[in-house]
Parts: sequence; C-alpha cells; structure tokens
Amino acid sequence: MVYHLAAAVGVKYIVDDPLQGILTNVKGTEIVLEHSFKYWKRVVFASTSEIYGKSEKVPFEEDSERILGSTKVDRWSYSTAKALDEHLCFAYSAKGLPVSIVRYFNSYGPRIDERGYGSVVANFISQAMRNEPITVHGDGKQTRCFTYIEDTIRGTLLVGEKEEALGNAFNIGNNTETTIWRLAEMIVELTGSRSELTLVPYEDAYGSSYEDTRRRIPMIEKANNLLGFTPAVELSEGLKKTIEWAKENYNR
Ligand code: UDP
Repeated sequence: MVYHLAAAVGVKYIVDDPLQGILTNVKGTEIVLEHSFKYWKRVVFASTSEIYGKSEKVPFEEDSERILGSTKVDRWSYSTAKALDEHLCFAYSAKGLPVSIVRYFNSYGPRIDERGYGSVVANFISQAMRNEPITVHGDGKQTRCFTYIEDTIRGTLLVGEKEEALGNAFNIGNNTETTIWRLAEMIVELTGSRSELTLVPYEDAYGSSYEDTRRRIPMIEKANNLLGFTPAVELSEGLKKTIEWAKENYNR
C-alpha cells in the first residue's frame, strides 16, 4: 500500500513560492494516484487542517464547509491545492480504488525541521535556545491544536489498516486549543531561556499577501468512533521531548 506524505508544506514556503507549492502538491498527488490505480494499491493521502481555511465554525467536522479568502491571497493556494488532491482521492475512490484521507493538525515532535518547514514550534524552540526574541505574530491570541508526532503516526496507521476508513477523510489531531502566546510562554519556560516574547505584525513576517486562521480545532469523534483514535500526548509532555531532541540536534 501507499502512504502519500510527500508535499510542499509550511506557510512560509507556500507564500514565498506559490507556483512551486501548487505544482508540487497537485502534480505529485496526481502521479501517485494514477500509479496506485494502475497497480491497484491501497492509498492513504496526507491532507491538512488548512482545508477548512478560515471558517469560524470550530471545532471543524470532516464534512463541514470550507471558507477561504480571495485567490489574490497566496496562503489559500495551499488549501486549494490540497483540496483538489482530496477531490482526486474521492474521484479515484468512486472508481473503486481503496483510498483514505487524513487531515493533520499542527503536528510537531523530534526531527521537526529547524528552518525549512518554518513551523511555529520549531521557530520558537530555536529562538528560545539562542535566547533571541520569540516572534509571536499578530496579537498572539490565534489558536492551534498541536499534535505530537506519535499521535499523528498512530492515527495515520489506523486509517491505513481499518476497513472502516476506506473512502473517508479523518481529522487526526489533538483537540486541546492553545494560543500562540501561551505556546511561546511554555517553550521559554521548558527551555529555561532568557528570551522575551515580542509581537510581530503579520505583514513583517509574510508580506502583504497573507491572512491567518484565528482558531483551528479538530472534531475527532469520527476517528474515535470508527477507528478508536484518541490523542495521548499532551502539549507540555510533547514539547519536553521535542526540546530534549532539539538540544542535541539544533545549531545554537
Ligand atoms: N507563528 C508565529 N511566529 C512564528 C511562526 C508562526 O507567531 O515564528 C504563528 C503563525 O502566524 C500562525 C501560528 O503561529 O498563527 C501557526 O503557524 P504555523 O506556520 O506553524 O502553522 P499554520 O497553522 O499557520 O499552518
């Protein structure tokens, strides 16, 4: 079977080079699905909570509506490309191919890319380790549900193994909501850093073509009821393990 996780990921990447992001994510998935169909292999496609866009109807349920901004805002090209990938998955599923979709929610953990991926957890940990200012974007009150990598993997494997998952999309995430400001405080505390928290306008971080998602929370009942998925690792515990790893592996 095929677990298709390869993609252009990370808001910073997408905003810096939308063309590359769109082509990688659409063409790549098209090729994987075409070949899976040809050789008749079961597929799990790694999608994203970005699918829901800036919808304010939280928690996000798998079949709820997607709310996106203008096509002039590059950020939404990622959500759109991954949504087209999901449509392709469902279209192949309608032709009989065994396909399932997982939607990840801010996955983090050991081996998180220090620079390339640009996620908030990696950024804050490396800033804290260098005692540099922690760059909290906007007012810091936007929220995310951070999911420890072991939970993400367990959910992904359940989707790949269970019959009930076929032809379905599942939110795979932790449903505990945390503000970005609180995340910054936790990381400073857990690293024992002298860093100060600073607020950085979105425009300074991503340029003018940017809009953020205010709150992002998964509804995980479907994954729980059909597959027996529950997230097990809470944020403070996951951050401790991630920081332990980063201390050995990040450049200071
Ligand atoms: N963020 C931040 N400082 C950073 C990087 C990200 O405040 O150095 C914020 C970002 O603006 C967003 C949240 O953290 O509100 C999560 O960003 P990330 O790029 O990790 O993932 P997203 O959920 O936006 O895909």
